[in-house]
Amino acid sequence: MKYDFAATEKKWQEKWEKAGIFHAADTSDKPKFYGLVEFPYPSGAGMHVGHIKAYAGLEVVSRKRRMQGYNVLYPIGFDAFGLPTENYAIKTGIHPRQVTDKNIARFSEQLKRVGFSFDWDRVVDTTEEKYYKWTQWIFLKMFENGLVFRDTALVNYCPSCKVVLSNEDSQGGKCDICHSDIVQKSKDVWYLRITKYADKLLEGLEEVDYLPNVKMQQVNWIGRSTGAFVNFSLKGIDEKLRIYTTRPDTLFGVTFMVMAPEHPLLEKYRDRITNAGALDAYREECAKKTEFERTQMNKDKTGVRIEGLTAVNPVSGKEIPIYISDYVMIGYGTGAIMAVPAHDDRDYAFAKKFGIDIIEVIKGGDISKEAYAGDGEMVNSDFLDGIKEKKIAIEKMVKVLEEKGVGEAGVQYKMKDWAFNRQRYWGEPIPIVHCEKCGMVPVPYSELPLKLPQIENFAPGEGGESPLAKIDSFVNCKCPKCGGAAKRETDTMPQWAGSSWYFLRYIDPLNDECLADH
Ligand SMILES: [Zn+2]
Ligand SMILES: [Zn+2]
Repeated sequence: MKYDFAATEKKWQEKWEKAGIFHAADTSDKPKFYGLVEFPYPSGAGMHVGHIKAYAGLEVVSRKRRMQGYNVLYPIGFDAFGLPTENYAIKTGIHPRQVTDKNIARFSEQLKRVGFSFDWDRVVDTTEEKYYKWTQWIFLKMFENGLVFRDTALVNYCPSCKVVLSNEDSQGGKCDICHSDIVQKSKDVWYLRITKYADKLLEGLEEVDYLPNVKMQQVNWIGRSTGAFVNFSLKGIDEKLRIYTTRPDTLFGVTFMVMAPEHPLLEKYRDRITNAGALDAYREECAKKTEFERTQMNKDKTGVRIEGLTAVNPVSGKEIPIYISDYVMIGYGTGAIMAVPAHDDRDYAFAKKFGIDIIEVIKGGDISKEAYAGDGEMVNSDFLDGIKEKKIAIEKMVKVLEEKGVGEAGVQYKMKDWAFNRQRYWGEPIPIVHCEKCGMVPVPYSELPLKLPQIENFAPGEGGESPLAKIDSFVNCKCPKCGGAAKRETDTMPQWAGSSWYFLRYIDPLNDECLADH
């Protein structure tokens, strides 16, 4: 007799479901096991083989744990806000809600057919009002505690998707969604202050059992460095040009400085600068380039010397020319650097091109040929001369800087705060009201969820405004604080908002009182 796979599997899958054998008990005396897989984005194409592969490992472990007598929580849900669904809605005119429901139904059917032992009573969908109510609640808690703030900034902007993207979503200067080239645009941006957690994230890596290369990726992304902040004075002005360096030991080798073209001191001392026109022209050129293009190591070095501003080396007293160049970014560190061409490749290339002095302060290389980045004995460095160990030279320099009051030891991170708003419809509305009198006012907790209004046209407005900005009944509201006329924030949160806490919701997915019972 021929074995009928489809019928046999269906028979047992129905039996499993009826018996509730994959159901995790809320309370139980059994030992606990929580198997968490990354929940899928339900796309129109249905599941792909990568989903099966990703979920099969923990499927095996979860089944084993059940047989070993554990109370197993092995849940699944759907990370369903986001651009692909919205773009599909723009193209077809079908509401993202409908598209999402259809895709979730298809995914659910497929996941069941594969035979995964998920607890289907705990399914979460990040786009459901009873779920995103708590995403908004978390946002407001973070706002209350200063972890959410708003600022104007140059952002990565995809002109095709008409959306602001994080650095993580625009790697290589391309949009992660449509692969168009990213441009830089000045926008109001909501940020999550994730940099506050940089050290905690680093320390936490010691406690988790990740693969070494995964840990290394995290470490590099956080990019913690130790060094010093140094204040260079500007000749003839009561002003400091502040920089950060990981190599304060090379301070005697500084022969020029570089500011980001957008540095605020340029505007402040515009009347002292004799070549402002040339600087303006250069800055305009930079505005057309992406961050990726600007900071690539191998590209030809460009820049303009600032005529009329001169820095003074705080330890040697030497006068140092200042340039603007696109490889220094305003968003990183202090937006200015000290350049030590003898011991840094990028500074070396720049110095060669502009005919700037190159002073060796660490012995060991041949600086007539190339920069020397290795260790060696300090030379041409006054009180550091003769020191052979980098660490000792750095400590000594920092001590001198602190004594002279021109600098101090410091820490920097590569990681930046998270640009957390999108000009799109299919996301959680940011629950903030803008009042002319009161400023930014949170929507009262009792009024959550702040629901997405029903709309017909999902296309973003010109200039990249959220489609919500076109809905007067949504935009115009009363200020929760003073009762006056006010306007709602029309940006929404990125897809990652709901997927940052779903693992907590699985524990208690139906709770209306809090995001999950303590
Ligand atoms: Zn795009
Ligand atoms: Zn008000």
